[in-house]
Amino acid sequence: MKRYAIIGYPVSHSLSPQIHNPAFKQLNIDAHYEKIEIAPKHFEQIIAILKKENIYSGFNITVPFKEKIIPFLDRIDPLAEKVGAVNTVQIIDGEWIGHNTDLFGFIEPIKDQIGTYKSALVLGAGGAAKAVLFSLAALGHFNKITIHNRTKGRAEQLAQQLKQHFSEQEVAIYKQDDVNNTYDIIINCTSIGMEKTIEQNPYNGMASHHNKSFFYDLIYKPEQTQFLSQATELKLNNINGLEMLKAQAAKSFFIWTGQNFPE
Ligand code: NAP
Repeated sequence: MKRYAIIGYPVSHSLSPQIHNPAFKQLNIDAHYEKIEIAPKHFEQIIAILKKENIYSGFNITVPFKEKIIPFLDRIDPLAEKVGAVNTVQIIDGEWIGHNTDLFGFIEPIKDQIGTYKSALVLGAGGAAKAVLFSLAALGHFNKITIHNRTKGRAEQLAQQLKQHFSEQEVAIYKQDDVNNTYDIIINCTSIGMEKTIEQNPYNGMASHHNKSFFYDLIYKPEQTQFLSQATELKLNNINGLEMLKAQAAKSFFIWTGQNFPE
């Protein structure tokens, strides 16, 4: 039996086993997907053991290890290398190959409409925001991409990184004046709206002038965050992060097995 896993800290909440195990079963693939929780201080030590033992055929890697895994890879997909974050490791004959399927997962649910958007506001500057920003910039047709984050220095660092790779695009840091700007798409990549912050909205600048914006929240639990509720009240199109979760998982599954998820 082949073994796959999700590695992170914490991983108890992860839905990934509930996605991959039924897919293995339906496609009669003799494989099992499990959770591996590693305390950050033991990460290097345990990853070195996993590599030596070579009992896994692949794994997903999540918060907070998407960058820390890179030194352990033998090869890395060029876009994942640009982003500097990996969420999927494919293992072939003991060789570890890193990919980032979050980039694909983010675009896939909106692939039919994204071509019409020219401006984007990205809320957050963590790992998910990074994947989203690189996906948008790599499309190459955005006139302006604005980053808004609680810790401004982090947003500035990310903007610099983007400008190095995509010098032709305008990447801006959100200023208070930008409240009055309109954006074709506004994406919540912060964790505001989950658990303890369930009553909060990461974007308070929303007003009627956003009457054409599309709202995308990467959060899928709860299904409707405050961010999306406001959009719904204003009759603005919106989507939560569940389709992204499924799309990135499907891409990982394809990388490992060469097969598509069953419908
Ligand atoms: P992360 O690296 O920890 O980044 C968290 C971001 O949220 C940072 O920008 C942080 O700002 C901001 N933030 C957190 N608490 C805040 C608060 N109280 N007030 C203001 N800003 C706050 O996490 P991540 O990996 O990027 O994940 C972010 C979200 O995306 C999570 O909800 C995660 O579940 C979701 N996600 C969904 C998918 C999917 O497939 N649907 C995939 C990946 C991630 P600072 O920089 O100021 O700390």
